[in-house]
Amino acid sequence: MIKKLMSDEHFLKKMVWRRDVVKALALSALGIGVAPAVFAQTLKLPAGSFSEHMDDHIRDYLHKMKNFDAPHNEDIKIEQEAYPVFQSTVQRLHRLEQFVGHLNFQIIGFDEGIRIARRYADVGKFTEAELGFMEMIFYHDASLYGFLGEKTMTKLTDSINKNDVIKIPDAGNYLYRGIPHQTLITIRQQVSEGVVLTSGVRGIMKQFLLFLSKAEMSRGNLSLASRSLAPPGYSFHANGDFDVGQDGLGVLNFTEKFTETEVYTRLTDLGYLKLRYKLNNPLGVRFEPWHIKIT
Ligand SMILES: [Zn+2]
Repeated sequence: MIKKLMSDEHFLKKMVWRRDVVKALALSALGIGVAPAVFAQTLKLPAGSFSEHMDDHIRDYLHKMKNFDAPHNEDIKIEQEAYPVFQSTVQRLHRLEQFVGHLNFQIIGFDEGIRIARRYADVGKFTEAELGFMEMIFYHDASLYGFLGEKTMTKLTDSINKNDVIKIPDAGNYLYRGIPHQTLITIRQQVSEGVVLTSGVRGIMKQFLLFLSKAEMSRGNLSLASRSLAPPGYSFHANGDFDVGQDGLGVLNFTEKFTETEVYTRLTDLGYLKLRYKLNNPLGVRFEPWHIKIT
């Protein structure tokens, strides 16, 4: 156990350091003066203080992950000039969800969403500025605001083939046919009837709405949003991962309360909880004990 903790800590140190270097280099490429100085300072530190400096970093990082829903000084926010476009994009995505329905919206692609919005006045055409904003969010390197997970989609227009997914009607979700669907069936058989699918396949429009709504609730704070929701293009819900919960627990299924449930204990005992975002993970994401890793 101790050995395991040590190696996790070592990994964490490497990742936190890498994040700072990447961020400093990227900001410097954008012509921002402060970060390269910090970067140079980091490199010049003598060995002893370097490790102290790293310990501070790790303490900060773990504190931030534990208090994922609180704003932190270093957090990156949407700038004032972009705020009206940001808000109108969120509102239009909400209208699109209402128009096509919760279940259909889960897997709608970018082009399809744009087409429907253009055709129906209830949603209304996405403006050039809104499309530009979404493009900027999708292609922006999310590590600059603290999210260090892999990108799961290469193009904004990548879409989900409807033949590859299956409706799970009682859950209001889709799952990919094959391993993800089979995994849910086995879990339901082996764990109990108390297990529920809380989120399945999510296409790009759904991920945009989840991520941007979270950012909107926190005054445009992209860093805060990315600590609990993968930015559009980075979610493994596009590739087969899904979330489970205990029937009756409601939204608390997306909190650490879930670890106190029978479903969580049974899933752990049976070895199903190969988690994507473990406790103290180095990816800039809070602990997500309900998120099942498939791919
Ligand atoms: Zn998830």
